Amino acid sequence: MKERVAVRNLRLCTKECVCLYVCPTGASDTENSIIDTEKCTGCGICAEACGSGAISMLPLTYPKQQNHRENIIKEMRTLLRRKTEAEGTAAALPGPFARALERSNRVMAEDIIREAGYMLPQSKNTHDLLEKTAAGSGPEAAAKLLSLLDVNE
Ligand code: SF4
Ligand code: SF4
Repeated sequence: MKERVAVRNLRLCTKECVCLYVCPTGASDTENSIIDTEKCTGCGICAEACGSGAISMLPLTYPKQQNHRENIIKEMRTLLRRKTEAEGTAAALPGPFARALERSNRVMAEDIIREAGYMLPQSKNTHDLLEKTAAGSGPEAAAKLLSLLDVNE
């Protein structure tokens, strides 16, 4: 079974058509710029031949996300605490620069939380779930949210 397919970046493609001539299966159509993923065997010949670097080989499956190690999580928590403190310090100061500093520390802190694998209540679905959980209908709300979410295998 093939593990990857070719994809063309139209911004880089100069239509020199080498891919069309080297492809053994006729998957690369330069007339309509489509690479037929059914016909593509993932051999990579076109990507090597393209002088513009317009073709990349895209894996069809990705490895499962790895868990963070405990020491990394610990460092992230320390970093998060510092960003939160910096946000609080900036919030107490006047002026637009302080507002920018406050906002930038908030964005970095949120990134750290996401990186550590925690959910942020920013989407409407998550908000609804948390509100219903707080109101005591947790299992029903969780079932509704699960029915709306795709699963990454
Ligand atoms: S060889 Fe590269 S630049 Fe030429 S048509 Fe194919 S993708 Fe585009
Ligand atoms: S990877 Fe191989 S089969 Fe797929 S489009 Fe390129 S040359 Fe054709």
